[in-house]
Amino acid sequence: MSLKFDIESIPEDEGLELLQTEKKSALKIDLPDCTLTQDIELSGRLTRLGRDVFFKGRVACEIQFACSRCLENFKTPVKTSLDVCFMPIPENEPQEEHELRESDIEVEYYKENTIDLAQPVFDQILLTQPLIPLCCSDCKGLCSQCGVNRNKNECQCGELSGAGDPRFDVLQKLKDKIK
Ligand SMILES: [Zn+2]
Ligand SMILES: [Zn+2]
Repeated sequence: MSLKFDIESIPEDEGLELLQTEKKSALKIDLPDCTLTQDIELSGRLTRLGRDVFFKGRVACEIQFACSRCLENFKTPVKTSLDVCFMPIPENEPQEEHELRESDIEVEYYKENTIDLAQPVFDQILLTQPLIPLCCSDCKGLCSQCGVNRNKNECQCGELSGAGDPRFDVLQKLKDKIK
């Protein structure tokens, strides 16, 4: 299976129904702190009007992140809708005419007769993800003194010195002022 389609294979009237599973390696989401852990499920319909092709459907997969506070890996399911319009690359026309489309829909340009859903699927998956991934909203993170994962273990650093927790620093400064 591929995410590439020859536009001639898309009937102009009824369109082309898609329901396919794409290997996770088909999209190169492979960053140190963000990888795909499941194959990608794509469903929806390709329709065509002349040389303009539309896809409307859904994408489902699973991403593994490293939590930005405690650095533990965690998996999160991704389910998102995808609307995209493919248009042939304009040959001699000025580009700005095409960039000024007033629409929320994503526009991709294609060459010759082949459209490729890989890039819009990739964009849409990453677009739905938080910039700062957290394993849970109240993740306690790592102790800045001893490096212990404070979700799993307690350490004595905070109690001994009062350091490592910014709230203690503020308190300490207040106390110093009072003196
Ligand atoms: Zn965490
Ligand atoms: Zn500690």
